[in-house]
Amino acid sequence: MNKYKRILLKLSGEALAKGDNTLDPATLSKVVGIIKSALDQKVEVGIVVGGGNIFRGAALAQVGMNRVTGDHMGMLATVINALAIGDACKRANIDALVMSGFPIGGGVCDPVDHNKAKQALSAGKVVIFSAGTGSPCFTTDTGAVLRGIEIEADVVFKATKVDGVYTDDPMKNPDATRYKTLSFNEAIEKNLQIMDTAAFALCREHGLDICVFSMLENTNTLSDILNGKPAGTIIGN
Ligand code: UDP
Repeated sequence: MNKYKRILLKLSGEALAKGDNTLDPATLSKVVGIIKSALDQKVEVGIVVGGGNIFRGAALAQVGMNRVTGDHMGMLATVINALAIGDACKRANIDALVMSGFPIGGGVCDPVDHNKAKQALSAGKVVIFSAGTGSPCFTTDTGAVLRGIEIEADVVFKATKVDGVYTDDPMKNPDATRYKTLSFNEAIEKNLQIMDTAAFALCREHGLDICVFSMLENTNTLSDILNGKPAGTIIGN
């Protein structure tokens, strides 16, 4: 029996990259394998993907670019990643639909429509949301929470390099311990760099839990958590 029926998986752009490769085919296949394992468990999967492997508005602003333009470039970067995941899913015989937070013509992808997304998810398709919230000055983490609320996901899975939230940086402090659970208030007070405050505040208001976990180190982790095995850190109310 699965713990969750419908999940929103947040992948950073960097989770698709390796070294100098903006998009690493082997990593992409690994991600698709993980998505497939969730679908095989009859869990519905929505995805929000970041674009940090290509562009980030804040970094572009640091070298003199207009911040809003930089954010537009960052959001377009997420569309590139979403198309790549959609294509990789289709090659693995997984039905996938890419949606964008702002309209893009030319048959590239559909605009976000929560009803269409829910229908597709119920039909077993993977829905990949791109362009974050569709507006500058936000992050794809906030976009993930927003889409999670829209599709009525049971939880947002936030994939990171570390297997949860720790009392201190586990790379620097060997005594750091992993929190099994945390409240949104604690997460906001501690100014955790896991997600931005806007994303936490939105989750708190809508009672949507976040599970912070490491996805690529052990490709069974998502499947294990869906099966009820305790791992990662759950942030809730
Ligand atoms: N972005 C934005 N609005 C959003 C989501 C993203 O303007 O709602 C831009 C922003 O410039 C951000 C970039 O898109 O830096 C890529 O997203 P993010 O940094 O969240 O990607 P990740 O770190 O998850 O790869």
